[in-house]
Amino acid sequence: MTILLLGSGGREHAFAWKMIQSPLCDKLFVAPGNAGTAGIAHNVNISPTDFEAIKTLVLGENIGMVVVGPEDPLVKGIYDYFKNDESLKHIPVIGPSKLGAQLEGSKEFAKEFLIKHNIPTAAYDSFTAETVEKGCEFLETLQPPYVLKADGLAAGKGVLIIQDLEEAKTELRNMLVHEKFGTASSKVVIEEFLDGIELSCFVLTDGKSYKILPTAKDYKRIGEGDTGLNTGGMGAVSPVPYVDAVLMEKIETRIVKPTIEGFQKDGIEYKGFVFIGLINVNNEPIVIEYNVRMGDPETEVVVPRLKTDLVELFLAVANEKLDTISLEVDPRSATTIMVVSGGYPEDFEKGKVISGLENISDSIVFHAGTKLENDNVLSNGGRVLAVTSYGDNFQEAIKKSYQNIDKLNFDKMYFRKDIGFDLL
Ligand code: AMP
Repeated sequence: MTILLLGSGGREHAFAWKMIQSPLCDKLFVAPGNAGTAGIAHNVNISPTDFEAIKTLVLGENIGMVVVGPEDPLVKGIYDYFKNDESLKHIPVIGPSKLGAQLEGSKEFAKEFLIKHNIPTAAYDSFTAETVEKGCEFLETLQPPYVLKADGLAAGKGVLIIQDLEEAKTELRNMLVHEKFGTASSKVVIEEFLDGIELSCFVLTDGKSYKILPTAKDYKRIGEGDTGLNTGGMGAVSPVPYVDAVLMEKIETRIVKPTIEGFQKDGIEYKGFVFIGLINVNNEPIVIEYNVRMGDPETEVVVPRLKTDLVELFLAVANEKLDTISLEVDPRSATTIMVVSGGYPEDFEKGKVISGLENISDSIVFHAGTKLENDNVLSNGGRVLAVTSYGDNFQEAIKKSYQNIDKLNFDKMYFRKDIGFDLL
């Protein structure tokens, strides 16, 4: 089968790396891909949200399945675009329908879904420009810190956590009235602050049954000791040692099962990944967000730990046969460390020549923001490379990743030196 994978990050390189190992995958296209996917698949210079161009490629190359990496094409409705097109409707898209993708595309939709299906989540209310003063009054009823969430997609920047009440009111006005995050903040969810440890749960579903994937924890802040600005993620580890069987059981019965049942009750077609962001408050898991795709960099540790054929899993999702497959997981630990461009997540330079890739041993380098030019691999984004390693324990895996990062170089390269240290 010929498969098309949409996206260009480390997540997609990790998917591609795993998919080409499958005997079911004869040929893999990645749109648009990066220098890493160029080495193992066929990159095509098409944007994941250009559905017309994707249609032409899919029909021209006789593509039998489309796997969607990022959220944008899902929120824009690629699943429905295929389903409603006579020439495409037989081709499965791995991802939720446009309605399902609203779980990530609209914080208010997600909150309403959670409340409706009795899934534990923080108390909230939502406001628009017309009700901004009511929003300020609502803030006065809450204890600090105050959590303000832009309703729509805001490139991971739409959540503000503010200590001071007056500042929270000002930011609420900035979001609603002055379009701080553009139309994404024309509605704002104000949520009760939850104090606890964050964790993520990744689920693959065919809309009826589901598989819970290995747990992972990511490191969001740019600086060591979890300081500084938020990023897309500076590293990840899998499994998460503090998620024990008791907690996992609670997550499954109180959150995962009612989520999948909620899809069925609400008539939401959903054939893809659900990424559930949780905060563990006194051993009670509470949902803070849904994402409708895998996390990046969590994919770079979760996928390498899957022993089951990923294409077989995707086909089972497409055919609603996920219950017939058993998920096999590598018992080893995996870590990934993100190598980024100096200055990220603020201003940074691109186009730096990356050296040392040929010297990597016993780690896997997943490319994120890279491109090929005249046989050189150049940096092409904030997050540039994810260096993943296995180990019998975290120490070993982390050590291997850092040993290999020492062999890499490009101008102004930066990485956190403490990934996983909190777990040792
Ligand atoms: P989200 O995009 O909803 O995941 O929010 C981004 C980050 O804000 C999360 O990773 C948490 O660190 C934090 N956050 C979101 N909601 C809450 C909440 N209700 N209480 C505490 N922290 C939160």
